[in-house]
Amino acid sequence: MAKTNHIAIVPSPGYTHLVPIIEFSKRLIKHHPNFHVTCIVPSLGPPPESSKAYLKTLPSNIDTILLPPINKEQLPQAVNPAVLIHLTITLSLPSIHEVLKSLCSKAPLTAFVVDVFAFQALEYAKEFNALSYFYFPSSAMILSLLIHASKLDEEVSGEYKDLTEPIKLPGCVPVMGVDFPDPTQDRSGEIYKDFLERAKAMVTADGILINTFLEMEPGAIRALQEFENGKIRLYPVGPITQKGSSNEADESDKCLRWLDKQPPCSVLYVSFGSGGTLSQHQINELAWGLELSGQRFLWVLRAPSNSVSAAYLEAAKEDPLQFLPSGFLERTKEKGLVVPSWAPQVQVLSHNSVGGFLTHCGWNSTLESVQEGVPLITWPLFAEQKMNAVMLTDGLKVALRPKFNKYGIVEKEEIAKVMKCLMDGEEGKGMRERMMNLKDSAANALNDGSSTQALSQLASHWESFSGI
Ligand code: UDP
Repeated sequence: MAKTNHIAIVPSPGYTHLVPIIEFSKRLIKHHPNFHVTCIVPSLGPPPESSKAYLKTLPSNIDTILLPPINKEQLPQAVNPAVLIHLTITLSLPSIHEVLKSLCSKAPLTAFVVDVFAFQALEYAKEFNALSYFYFPSSAMILSLLIHASKLDEEVSGEYKDLTEPIKLPGCVPVMGVDFPDPTQDRSGEIYKDFLERAKAMVTADGILINTFLEMEPGAIRALQEFENGKIRLYPVGPITQKGSSNEADESDKCLRWLDKQPPCSVLYVSFGSGGTLSQHQINELAWGLELSGQRFLWVLRAPSNSVSAAYLEAAKEDPLQFLPSGFLERTKEKGLVVPSWAPQVQVLSHNSVGGFLTHCGWNSTLESVQEGVPLITWPLFAEQKMNAVMLTDGLKVALRPKFNKYGIVEKEEIAKVMKCLMDGEEGKGMRERMMNLKDSAANALNDGSSTQALSQLASHWESFSGI
């Protein structure tokens, strides 16, 4: 009987960081059944119901170990999810170490794979004689920024957001400093220091698994593979996405039944990920813009907040529909559906009535849209989403990016204009065609194309390391 290779993985807290790394593990064991994966799950407060339900569905060769949750009261009152994630991992390090020790006392570990936000844990790989890998849950363009961050830090003076010329990362579309990820926007802050620390750690691993695919980012991927004569072993294994989940069965059915009644390719799906929020002012403008456009829409609405990532690690309890402008639901009932907080996104995007997606450009949403060939309106809110928007609009040309006014608001006329352009215009048609091409490439990459080959190379390397 073939010997088993043991792998341990550590996701970072939050449902959207948990799912892709586990979906990667599922792919690994499906294609290479001689692997066994243990997923060590840190969490801030008790894990959300969605994570617990998902973990119950895993096959027998993926074990999960839930670490003692970090008590929210132990952490400072920070609203930035990146800070909370970083602190949760730091405080979970002793329990991660304990689990690794116990695992290795039973069987040797071949590889230790950690999400990029759990980078501090990677140092344990050496102690337990395992190979060390990062799982990078975002684009090659963002990885390129991390890889070049130290050099940029030395060469660029002042704030990135004040630069008047774009920065050209190797193989990537040029990007203005103002579109760099949030942690880089204040170079004197602690968050920027964490970012640089994480960036430096990236080159110390034995390899990086990245959730993208060669055909989507050929320039960035090739440039990373050539960086300092192959210093980084990069494995583009994506697109790895969830197969569909729903928190509220009734609401899910309602969305899909409503979509069944709409004409093909006619509906714009509007959603800001698992936790993105808008201000009350912006909710009003978006509502009026949707109405003004005359287009059909399915809007996943959250209660307003002045912090764009307010609901990321903690959902609001209020009914969001009460925050819509008065009479909006009645006036738009023939054209639109508004659902509170959550929709079955993967099923929605695969429905043939959906013709566009207004998205905050989270990487999972981006890949899910690519896999369904749905063109985008980009509305980045936080983290690295602005850079994703640049790649999608200027690089791949599969998205339109509405303009924010000087108060940071997208006005109703602008919303209506980009909606009409995407759903009805010639420009939108070209974007849909390019998205359909990407959809085919994604399917090929996962069939027996580039991503499956990258996974096989990785598995062979792991097998030869453990001598099996
Ligand atoms: N999602 C969903 N329904 C919703 C909102 C989000 O199923 O109403 C899922 C979506 O399919 C994706 C994830 O939540 O898999 C969002 O991840 P992304 O990286 O796009 O954004 P984040 O939530 O991390 O900001």
